[in-house]
Amino acid sequence: MPDCPQCALPLDTVRAREGIHYHCPGCHSYAATILQIRRLAGDKFATSLIRQINTNMTPSERSCPFCGGRMRSFTSQSPAIELDGCRRCCAVW
Ligand SMILES: [Zn+2]
Ligand SMILES: [Zn+2]
Repeated sequence: MPDCPQCALPLDTVRAREGIHYHCPGCHSYAATILQIRRLAGDKFATSLIRQINTNMTPSERSCPFCGGRMRSFTSQSPAIELDGCRRCCAVW
C-alpha cells in the first residue's frame, strides 16, 4: 500500500467505476495514474498532462508514493492546479 508523500499516512484505496485511485485521509490529496485520469477527464487532458510531466524538469519535494522516486511539479493549465507527477509510473499526485 503506497504512503502519502506529504504526511506519510497509508493511502486509502478508492474503488470507483472509473478505476482505482488513492486518497490520503490526512491531507485529502488524491493520487491517480494517467490511465485513470484519461478515463475521468478525457484523452486530451491526459495527453497534455503527460506532455507537461515529460517537459517539466522542476523536481518536486515529494516522492512518488508508488516507486519512491522524486516527482516533478508542474501546474496544469485547465483547470489550473498544482500537481506532482512521476514519469516512471505515469502517476499524478
Ligand atoms: Zn497526506
Ligand atoms: Zn513513481
